[in-house]
Amino acid sequence: MVKRLWFACALFFLCAGVASAQDARAVVQDSLKSMGDVKSIQYSGTGHINSFGQAWIPNAPWPITNLTSYTKTIDFSSKSAKEELIHSEPNPMVKGGGRPFAGDDKQVNFVSGTYAWDMPGSAPVPQPGAAAERQLQIWLTPHGFLKAALENGATAKKVGMMTEISFQTGKYMVTGTIDAHNMVTRTETWLPNPVLGDMPVETTFSAYKDYNGVKFPTTIVQKQGGQATLELTVNSVNANPGLNLSVPDAVKTAAAPPIKVQSQEMGDGIWFVAGGSHNSMVVEFPTYITVIEGPLGEGRSLAVIAEAKRLVPNKPIKYLINTHSHFDHSGGVRTYVAEGATIITQEINVPFYQKAWAAPRTLAPDNLSKGAKEANFLPVREKYVLTEGDRTLEIFHENGSMHNGGMLIVYFPKEKILEEADDYTPDLPELAAPGGIRPPVFMANLMKQIQTLKLDVATVAPMHGIVVTFAELQKAAATGKG
Ligand SMILES: [Zn+2]
Repeated sequence: MVKRLWFACALFFLCAGVASAQDARAVVQDSLKSMGDVKSIQYSGTGHINSFGQAWIPNAPWPITNLTSYTKTIDFSSKSAKEELIHSEPNPMVKGGGRPFAGDDKQVNFVSGTYAWDMPGSAPVPQPGAAAERQLQIWLTPHGFLKAALENGATAKKVGMMTEISFQTGKYMVTGTIDAHNMVTRTETWLPNPVLGDMPVETTFSAYKDYNGVKFPTTIVQKQGGQATLELTVNSVNANPGLNLSVPDAVKTAAAPPIKVQSQEMGDGIWFVAGGSHNSMVVEFPTYITVIEGPLGEGRSLAVIAEAKRLVPNKPIKYLINTHSHFDHSGGVRTYVAEGATIITQEINVPFYQKAWAAPRTLAPDNLSKGAKEANFLPVREKYVLTEGDRTLEIFHENGSMHNGGMLIVYFPKEKILEEADDYTPDLPELAAPGGIRPPVFMANLMKQIQTLKLDVATVAPMHGIVVTFAELQKAAATGKG
């Protein structure tokens, strides 16, 4: 019995054994021969794309939109790509963030080497923060994967009838599978994400077809963080279409915008902290500070924490109130954990954060991953009152939200201030949904909550946009326009 087990193990290791880099080269070259070596490729199709990080509740799918047209053109030698797509909202509307938007939303995105930009109109908009991922996406396509494997000294491993190929490009590890017919069936890498840590990005390729000697999958599915971000049914493929991109001067000289913090006093010991796309609030209590919202990522959090300490010297940040789990609003929460704060969030989010924050963070370590702090949560079901001395905050779960199932709003009963996120975004045209349509369904639900909870609101402090009077929200909700 023992002998047979030993034999089975030995056989397994022989089959699954790591082959040399030379074997990998031969496997990849064979695959490239079977798939058709191309200098550039263009593929088009229809399907779905999803609003990453905008799930209605944790672990639900990223909200889906209909992809009515999609074309990607890649030139491998110049490491450049162009992605054009048009998507629209399903009817009826699905729950979650990144919506609603009116009609068709058209996007045109580029990458060339280390430069990335969008072309929403006739002028390029630099996207320096997107370059690494867009570049990596080239190597996650079937032909791109094989070319990058050859360039980066890949290794091979037999797994049953398949060969698993792995290589490192820059700081990213990429693996992929080549099947017995020499087709690439799957690629995988990991991208740094402020919420999910080293986040898996897995793409599967199936139903290969022959397009004039070039094999290409007709079904492509990409998942990020375990949920679909792209489902594409390919309907045409062009081999060697060429792509001659010249990087616009405005893109070449663009740098990542500096993190700005601008504080506005809203009352005694209450500050609205703006200066970027997302706002926070700093609230002074007799013996501590509470911050509302830790958006975006560690950079923003460090700037807001520094501002909180400047505004309220010599008091610790005891609580961070997280309005909801959408990644743009929760990406900076971990920095507050590292700072020693307890996280107040709707109870549905607690197991999600606990699991997500336990993931490895080798690609972009943050203060929390470098330290050894445990996250402390104060979960809110429907209502929690935070009070000390003269200061009182009432935290409510916003029931009935189509935007997020675990949404919290914060009310200051003495000062008649209401903090809200994403239901109403006043006077920031560049952040308004395409077509200028505000989400009337979100505003209507917020108004309903205010009435049900009998909140006497005078001022609205939104997590995007600017501070306005309650009359502005009433007007916007009544007309459906912000
Ligand atoms: Zn949101």
